[in-house]
Amino acid sequence: MVPVILVLNSGSSSIKFSLYQDEAEQIAGQISGLGAEPRLDLLSRISGKTIDRALNSSEARSHNTALQALLPVIDEELGGRPVTAVGHRVVHGGTDHDLPLKITDEIMDELRALEPLAPLHQPHNLAGIEAARATFPEAIQTACFDTAFHRKHPWVNDTFALPRSLYDEGVRRYGFHGLSYEYICEHLKQNDPTAYSGRVIVAHLGNGASMCAIHGGQSIGSTMGFTALDGLPMGTRCGQLDPGVVLYLLTTKGMSPNDVSDLLYKQSGLKGLSGVSQDMRTLTQSDDPRAREAIDYYVFRIRRELGAMAAVLGGIDTIVFTGGIGENSALIRRRVCDSQEWLGFEIDPELNEAGALRISTEKSKISAMVIPTNEEEMIRRHTSALLSAETTPA
Ligand code: ADP
Repeated sequence: MVPVILVLNSGSSSIKFSLYQDEAEQIAGQISGLGAEPRLDLLSRISGKTIDRALNSSEARSHNTALQALLPVIDEELGGRPVTAVGHRVVHGGTDHDLPLKITDEIMDELRALEPLAPLHQPHNLAGIEAARATFPEAIQTACFDTAFHRKHPWVNDTFALPRSLYDEGVRRYGFHGLSYEYICEHLKQNDPTAYSGRVIVAHLGNGASMCAIHGGQSIGSTMGFTALDGLPMGTRCGQLDPGVVLYLLTTKGMSPNDVSDLLYKQSGLKGLSGVSQDMRTLTQSDDPRAREAIDYYVFRIRRELGAMAAVLGGIDTIVFTGGIGENSALIRRRVCDSQEWLGFEIDPELNEAGALRISTEKSKISAMVIPTNEEEMIRRHTSALLSAETTPA
């Protein structure tokens, strides 16, 4: 029988879901506004049904009850066929997990112990798993980690220059957005094997943002480090920061660790710099000079990382833009690529405006590409592979 795979990406205020029968996405949507005014949006390609409604108070109590609201819809759309497996996005897999895996009670304990390393994401990912285990008790549950893709990056990119004992206890550069980078690599492998085997820099520019240097499909380094705070400025996260600033906030200003955490994760980045919005669309349409400066800083940091990664890789063959901003903002792509002939690439303004797959000119030595990422599809593939391994005799 064709397996039915549900993919869940469970965050603090939303649960995004996609349901696949075999390889085809049949139902997609999200429960948004958890903790405030939760809504369920859903589109089913099975029956053409759409749902856009507020959750009632009993449905809205927790991730678990919100997920329960989905169940009757899925059941009805599947005509009673069970969900075979649920694949989860899990932000942190720790030092050991470089592959997706089937979730057991022991694995849950291990993942819970990693919560302090990703306090804004991991608890919600795990709440999603708990809810799915309760809602779909017969289904196999899998964890697909954002850190896994980077686990084999070189030691110099894995460590900080801190006493060794901290490295040994797990204070390392993990890197995130791994499912997105993996998807881009698989896309290149299938469609452009020469690019795949070369030196690639991927800029994943969404609400969260990072860049990854990749050689032959292998992560060499990421701008994100111990947590998803490091590297590029993001919607509300600060990106790279002198740790002395954190000491200043704690000591001179007497801020509590929780207040510092809130400042760095939720009040900084594009939102903090502009005072206008965390949303790039709003900023590009704003006349406020602080919005312009926030974009200037954003572009500056991407260009800086691009140069650093090019030096580490010993050159670039391909640059790929992805994520909400990378896929949709011709302006940001143009500004990142402006005057980069020294690096060997040049983009075609019309192809860039059109968001074409390849936006570099014919004579550009480096290919610049726009590839829409699909983390849900990557989770589906991993879950499907784990299902096959489960049902194939050794
Ligand atoms: P997430 O990391 O939450 O998945 P997305 O990848 O959807 O986020 O990216 C969200 C960002 O993409 C927002 O800043 C949004 O403004 C930006 N974005 C989406 N479309 C456009 C566009 N046409 N122009 C500029 N920015 C855009």
